[in-house]
Amino acid sequence: MKITANNPNRKSWIKVGKNSDFPIQNIPFGVFLTRDDITTIGTRIGDYAIDLAALHQLGYFEGIPLTDDMFMQDTLNDFISDGRTTWRLVRNRIADLFDEENPKLRDNKEHREVILFFMDEVEMLLPVDIGDYTDFYSSREHATNVGTMFRDPENALLPNWLHLPVGYHGRSSSIVVSGKRIRRPKGQTLPAGAETPVFGPSKLLDFELEMGFITTDANSLGKSVSVEEARDQIFGLVLLNDWSARDIQKWEYVPLGPFLSKNFATSISPWIVTLDALEPFRVEGPVQDPEPLPYLKEEGKTAYDIKLEASIQPKNSEEAVVSRTNFKYMYWSISQQLAHQTVNGCNVRSGDLYGSGTISGKEPDSYGSMLELTWKGTKPLKMKDGTERKFIEDGDTVILRGHCENEQLRIGFGTCVGRVKKAKK
Ligand code: MN
Repeated sequence: MKITANNPNRKSWIKVGKNSDFPIQNIPFGVFLTRDDITTIGTRIGDYAIDLAALHQLGYFEGIPLTDDMFMQDTLNDFISDGRTTWRLVRNRIADLFDEENPKLRDNKEHREVILFFMDEVEMLLPVDIGDYTDFYSSREHATNVGTMFRDPENALLPNWLHLPVGYHGRSSSIVVSGKRIRRPKGQTLPAGAETPVFGPSKLLDFELEMGFITTDANSLGKSVSVEEARDQIFGLVLLNDWSARDIQKWEYVPLGPFLSKNFATSISPWIVTLDALEPFRVEGPVQDPEPLPYLKEEGKTAYDIKLEASIQPKNSEEAVVSRTNFKYMYWSISQQLAHQTVNGCNVRSGDLYGSGTISGKEPDSYGSMLELTWKGTKPLKMKDGTERKFIEDGDTVILRGHCENEQLRIGFGTCVGRVKKAKK
């Protein structure tokens, strides 16, 4: 089926600024609370949130097989479960309804009033009920930097790294939507030179600039998803901040990997941008050498050209951009990650979240974490207010942004924001 929603020449009767992440070609999906305290599934064009439950009730999705309450829910799981054909039909219909040439809704003031909300009138909620959460470790530059710092620059990558997308099962209960405050975690750490650990607030709180993909019910237990079919089973992408307490991590991670250093909070952006909307921005990924095993082998445009940045805004000060990177640098693609996740028969379900791993580029100003940007705290970063940062301090807000652009079009993710508050007494 054609993705007519992606027509780059289409304009909406809703005014959209030139640098908006949300032109009519984006049509992301999210969940929000309206000014009347109703939770609904919606989309966004420019600075307007669009109530899809209201649109559906008024008959605007006629002809598309959707249950009556499909959008009257507080998560997108059921809609995502319906699969790619439905997602496409719905995006195509929304594009048509908001096309400046189409008078149907444009000229119906009464309907417009119940369907449209200013973004500042709504509260964005977590868009999916996340059953399972996996975090990969798929940036070669990030894995090399971490291996260099903590082990051996000569053998920075462990022997498995170039053969499989390394990952671990994370925790879904502490995934929060952008805007939720993050409490500094407490835990065990081993101070330098000490032989026994101490307990207290983490002193080395960090962010990880990542993207996450959200799946549909891709396979049943015992079956696997091939690398060729993987993209059809992925609904869309969000920005993801995998908050990390480096001092807790360093002491606890041997031999099973991170535990309490990462499961206290993970922030995601509220609008899921569909893979369909990102289709024009597919590019070739890095060359994979050695050649992956057949179940991971993939040809063509496997990566997405998404410009990413991270900023830190100290309390009562302006934000400073600390990193600029790109999702296309990832060594392992999202299709390879999903194929690997399911190759043993592990089933994935609608609303599951898969983090890419920290996205670092080659240059020191393209690293996706403070650990790398300040090289373990040895090269502090300057803030706009003159203060320095080795890691994240109480009161700091970390802001992630991401967008794709070509000559005709800009499709973006908005922001993924989290402010750190001090540890509990
Ligand atoms: Mn991570």
